[in-house]
Amino acid sequence: MKAVVVGGGIGGLAAAVALERRGWEVEILEQAAELTAVGAGLSLWPNAVRALDRLGLGEVVRQRALLGVRGGIQDTSGRWLARTDTDELERRFGTAAVVHRADLVEALRAALSAASLRTGVTVHAAHPDGTVLHSAGSSSGDLVVGADGVRSVVRQSVWPHAPAPRYVGYSAWRMLTRPMAVDEAVETWGRGERFGYAPLSDGRVYCFAVANAREGAAHGGLAELRRRFGGWHEPIPALLDAVDDSDLLYHDIYDLPPLSSYVSGRVVLLGDAAHAMTPDLGQGACQALEDAVVLGDCLDLERPAAGDVEHAMVAYDEARRPRAQTIARRSRQVGAVAQWSARPAVLLRNTALRLLPRSVFARSQAPVLSWPG
Ligand SMILES: Cc1cc2nc3c(=O)[nH]c(=O)nc-3n(C[C@H](O)[C@H](O)[C@H](O)COP(=O)(O)OP(=O)(O)OC[C@H]3O[C@@H](n4cnc5c(N)ncnc54)[C@H](O)[C@@H]3O)c2cc1C
Repeated sequence: MKAVVVGGGIGGLAAAVALERRGWEVEILEQAAELTAVGAGLSLWPNAVRALDRLGLGEVVRQRALLGVRGGIQDTSGRWLARTDTDELERRFGTAAVVHRADLVEALRAALSAASLRTGVTVHAAHPDGTVLHSAGSSSGDLVVGADGVRSVVRQSVWPHAPAPRYVGYSAWRMLTRPMAVDEAVETWGRGERFGYAPLSDGRVYCFAVANAREGAAHGGLAELRRRFGGWHEPIPALLDAVDDSDLLYHDIYDLPPLSSYVSGRVVLLGDAAHAMTPDLGQGACQALEDAVVLGDCLDLERPAAGDVEHAMVAYDEARRPRAQTIARRSRQVGAVAQWSARPAVLLRNTALRLLPRSVFARSQAPVLSWPG
């Protein structure tokens, strides 16, 4: 049995690993000339680390685990609004890690057979019968996995009436600093602006900044970041001093309204193509990894029923859609509150956060982080 995977991002590569391990021949079609991993750092929560365990790759990220790092949410003066600590997180839910995206992509690629990846191939359309049309001709499979991101061509061609991604009203910068001594993972909430940072295992610090903005607005690079965040608590100004302007990534943030199904005929959607979500819970890639594991489980060729692809994909849809859509909705809600800009609302929000017992915070995360339950 053969699967054509459209997209060689984290979701597509993970799906390919999961399917190869279940006995499938896999062909990955990736438009980029080579696999690059846009985006500096990536938080992988315990649910994602467990998904990687299931793909045989958990050790890669465990080596980079965030252990003994305190974290939480602060206000712009550095006062704690909510605190978590990674030892407690580890005890309750398992290991969390912050990795460089490139390291995860490389680990996934290394787990695949060499023949499966075709780069420099742009897909133009996919059909429910398993045919894929692309810049190098066509491919066909018993299964087509649309893992081609938020602007998915697979989704647009098989679900022509699906809603378009929606801009959520804010944009994000991502960056890596030069190595420096930081031992906390903090997100600082201001008014319509946020700044977050977490140390990577190699001493560099992954930082992100978020600001309310018009869709498509240009940004002013490091100078703008200094203007917005340079007066916030330490180490934020020092982190900005340790970043090169040329390394900044800037993206408008979109999510995808819920789809009524992730499967049609032989085609299945996975990752951002199925459920692009705001980055506010750091769960987009984590959910793509969960998708990949569940897809592999449903389509295990060693199980007699797995040859019935369409039936197996219905099981995938039922297992994945409600969970991914709930997390996407929650992520959007958290982002909306975090980006409040009116002074009274922000005061109220910060006070409520400060009064919230830690246990409530941890309990609210349990359904997301304890996957598969
Ligand atoms: C600012 C920001 C911070 C984030 N932080 C986190 C985080 O900390 N933790 C987390 O879990 N998630 C995070 N995410 C979300 C995460 O980045 C995504 O959910 C994840 O990368 C989705 O992976 P994917 O493989 O589904 O899609 P993508 O990464 O978009 O990959 C799609 C692939 O398909 C290829 N492709 C697209 N179209 C075609 C075509 N027509 N033909 C062939 N190939 C094609 C693309 O080149 C790409 O390689 C963040 C997102 C943002 C924007």
